[in-house]
Amino acid sequence: AKQKGKNNYQFYTPDMNFTTFENLVLENKLYNALEKNELELYYQPQVDLNTGQIIGMEALIRWVNPELGFISPAKFIPIAEETGLIIPIGEWTLRSACKQNKLWQDMGFNPMRVAVNISAYQFQQEDFVEKVRQILNETGLDPKWLEIEITESIAIKNVDFTVRTLRKFKDMGIKVSIDDFGTGFSSLAYLKNFKIDALKIDYSFVKDIGINSENESIIKAIIMLAKNLKLNVIAEGVETKEQLKFLKHQECNESQGYLFSKPVPSREFEKLLIRNNVF
Ligand code: C2E
Ligand code: CA
Ligand code: CA
Ligand code: CA
Repeated sequence: AKQKGKNNYQFYTPDMNFTTFENLVLENKLYNALEKNELELYYQPQVDLNTGQIIGMEALIRWVNPELGFISPAKFIPIAEETGLIIPIGEWTLRSACKQNKLWQDMGFNPMRVAVNISAYQFQQEDFVEKVRQILNETGLDPKWLEIEITESIAIKNVDFTVRTLRKFKDMGIKVSIDDFGTGFSSLAYLKNFKIDALKIDYSFVKDIGINSENESIIKAIIMLAKNLKLNVIAEGVETKEQLKFLKHQECNESQGYLFSKPVPSREFEKLLIRNNVF
């Protein structure tokens, strides 16, 4: 690498690739996104495959910037993680999801879980459990209606801390699911030490139902594993009736995907709830 003289500082250098520059722009705008009200939560229903009823929902963050337009969370969440912005954003997400869920319960809809994605960095903050407790107190949501979604990557970083934290959530009555299950590198051994409630089968397996028998085998294995460990199992990214049929046949408990509904704003979700409560 070239040594930089003290007058050589530049905001943009030709050897910086476009992605880096684009990320700087995003980072800059993301700093203000919260206070400018540019973030919104969408909700996607989770359907009980035995009853066909909506029994939960996943909150998914959306960012629309007036200049940049819609920015995918797959793009800005990693930036939020790198910059630490995931802490205030994650807190906002938790609070909004709990508040909205409580509101729906107060409106008289059947109570249901709301699942919130928690990034590893957020989960590893010393005060994370206290934050969650505070948000539940503040919003009045019963902890049993909150589910946090974490990924296997959390398990590798600091096992003792993770075990302790998950036990605290269990004691509080909060549900925990492992997102994107089967795509990480962790060993299965952690499953018996971690107090979790559900496994979420990743879209990358579900999309291959009827196409790739190896991925079908992985799905069967995950469902069997969940059953043996007495965990709930949720398949995500279900788009076709064929996939649904396969999952039902394998006795998967729950599904989520475009077949039922895309993630939608709260007002739209309410319409789904009205249908769900009527029929
Ligand atoms: P994820 O948690 O695995 O969420 C599932 C993604 O699959 C969502 O993408 C959802 O919109 C999409 N999806 C749902 N059903 C289908 C389907 O039938 N077909 C297909 N092709 N896709 C489907 P989204 O909303 O773009 O979110 C992408 C990722 O960003 C999420 O993946 C999650 O890792 C992250 N994310 C989203 N919201 C938050 C948040 O509030 N906090 C954190 N930390 N991460 C979030
Ligand atoms: Ca998720
Ligand atoms: Ca997922
Ligand atoms: Ca995913």
